[in-house]
Amino acid sequence: MTYDLIVIGSGPGGYSAAIRAGQYGLKTALVEKDTRRGGTCLLVGCIPTKALLHTADMWTFAQHATDEGITIDKPALNLPKAMDRKNAIVSKHSKGVDFLLKKNKVEVFNGFGTIKGPGKVEVTGDKGTQTLETKNILIASGSEARMLPGLTPDAEFILTNIEILNLQAVPKSMAIIGAGAVGVEFASMFKRFGTDVSIFEMMPRIVPVEDEEVSKELERLFKKQKIRVETGAKCENVQKTGKSVKMKVTLANGKVEDVETEKLLVAVGRSPNTDKIGLENTKVVTDRGFIKVDEYQQTAEPGIYAIGDVVAGTPQLAHVATAQGMVAVAKIAGKPATPIRRNRIPGCTYTEPGIGSVGLTEAQAKEKGYKVKVGKFPFLANSKATILGSHDGFVKIVADEQYGEILGVHIIGPEAFELISEAVTAMEAEATVETMRNTIHAHPTIYEAVGEAFQNVDGLAINV
Ligand SMILES: Cc1cc2nc3c(=O)[nH]c(=O)nc-3n(C[C@H](O)[C@H](O)[C@H](O)COP(=O)(O)OP(=O)(O)OC[C@H]3O[C@@H](n4cnc5c(N)ncnc54)[C@H](O)[C@@H]3O)c2cc1C
Repeated sequence: MTYDLIVIGSGPGGYSAAIRAGQYGLKTALVEKDTRRGGTCLLVGCIPTKALLHTADMWTFAQHATDEGITIDKPALNLPKAMDRKNAIVSKHSKGVDFLLKKNKVEVFNGFGTIKGPGKVEVTGDKGTQTLETKNILIASGSEARMLPGLTPDAEFILTNIEILNLQAVPKSMAIIGAGAVGVEFASMFKRFGTDVSIFEMMPRIVPVEDEEVSKELERLFKKQKIRVETGAKCENVQKTGKSVKMKVTLANGKVEDVETEKLLVAVGRSPNTDKIGLENTKVVTDRGFIKVDEYQQTAEPGIYAIGDVVAGTPQLAHVATAQGMVAVAKIAGKPATPIRRNRIPGCTYTEPGIGSVGLTEAQAKEKGYKVKVGKFPFLANSKATILGSHDGFVKIVADEQYGEILGVHIIGPEAFELISEAVTAMEAEATVETMRNTIHAHPTIYEAVGEAFQNVDGLAINV
C-alpha cells in the first residue's frame, strides 16, 4: 500500500498536519516514537508549563487574598498535587489528539521513523521493523533541549524542561542558565513557588528576541520580585557535589563568582531532531542540523517537506509548527497554500507579568530604514489593570511615520499573551494606526491599553 503522506512526529506541527491531510482526503500515516502523541508542546513544553504557571498564579492569589478582602487560613502549596493536575491535563489532551487522528482516518504507527530514501519510511517499534511507502514525507520531528558541553541531565540536579516538570518538592534554590522564553518562564514559576532563583544569561539582556524596552522592563520587574538576574554572564565548570551543583560564573563586570545551587536548569536553546532520521538517504539540505525549506516548506528533495522546530530560520514555537504544517499539506493536496509571513508570527512569554509581541522591534524597524513613530501606554493608567492588581508594564506600538503602517506591537503586562491577538489580526488585515485609533475598545478592559497606545502614536491618548 502507498500512502499519500507520511508524517514523522506528532507534535503540534505533525499531528495538526496529519489531521489536515485527513480532512483533504489524503491517505495519511503518522509515525511517533513516544508512546503518547503531542510532542514537546503537549507532553513537556507549552501545556504542562502553562498548567503549572496557572498554579503559580493561584498560589500568589491565595497568599495575597486578604488584599481582596478574602481570608484564606494558612494556604499551603502541595507541589505533588499540582504535578498530578498538570499530568491529568496533559493526558486528557494527548487522548484528544488520538481521538482527532482516528476521526480523520490517520493511521498511527508507534516507533522510530527513518527515511530510507524518497517515498520510503522505515518504522522501528515494539512490533519490529516495517517499511512504509508514500508519495510524500513530512518531517516534523521537533527538537530537544541543548546541553552545555560535558553535561548530562539527571532527575535530581541538572535539569532540562523534562526533569523540572517532575519535581516533587519546591527546591530551596535554583540557578537557570539561559534567559530565553523557557528560562524566564521557569524562573517566574519557581520564584512564586518559593524558590530562591538566579538567572544567568550570556547575552546583554534577558528575553533577547524581544524589543529592548520589554527586556528592560522584565529585568526590572524580576529584580523587584527578588529574582537574581545576571546578563553578560558566563557559566563554566559545572559540577555536581552529590547534594547540590557548583559552578563558576564570570559576571559582566569580570568578577568570577562561585555559585552553589540545589538545582540547575539548563535552558540554552533547542537542537533539531534531525541527526538520526535518515537525511543522508536524501538530498535534504541542512544548516547546523536545521532543515532548509522553501516558502511552501519543501526541502531540496522533491516530495519531502519539513515543518516546526527542525526548520532553519523560523522561531521554535508551537503555532509556527502548526501553521507551517497547514502550508505544506495544502501544497501536497494541490489546495491554495499561503506561505507564512515571518513578521506576523506572535511570540508569547508567560512570565508574571506576561509578554506578547509581533512584528519588528523598534531597533529592527530603524535598521530596515523605516522612519519610525512609537506610541506607548502604561498599564498603570488602565483601570481594569488596577482592578486586577497588575499594573506593571506597557503597550508599545512601532509604526511607520509616513503611512501609519503597523510594523510591530510589543506588550508586557497583564494577559499580554492574550492582548497581542488584536495586534496580529490588525497586521494581518493590514489595518493602519488610523484604523486602530477608530476601533472602539470596550471599557473597562485591559485591551483599552492597546487602543490607547495606538492613540498615542500621535500623542492622543486620553488617560495618560
Ligand atoms: C518548556 C517549554 C515551553 C514551551 N512553551 C511554548 C509556548 O508556550 N508556546 C509555544 O508556541 N511554544 C512553546 N514551546 C515550544 C514548542 O514546544 C515547540 O515549538 C513545538 O513543540 C514544536 O513542535 P514540532 O511539531 O515541531 O515538534 P515537537 O513538539 O518537538 O514534536 C516532535 C515529535 O516528533 C517525535 N519524533 C522525533 N523524531 C522521531 C522519529 N525519528 N520517529 C518518530 N517520531 C519522532 C518526538 O517524539 C515528538 O513527539 C515550549 C517549549 C518548551 C521546551
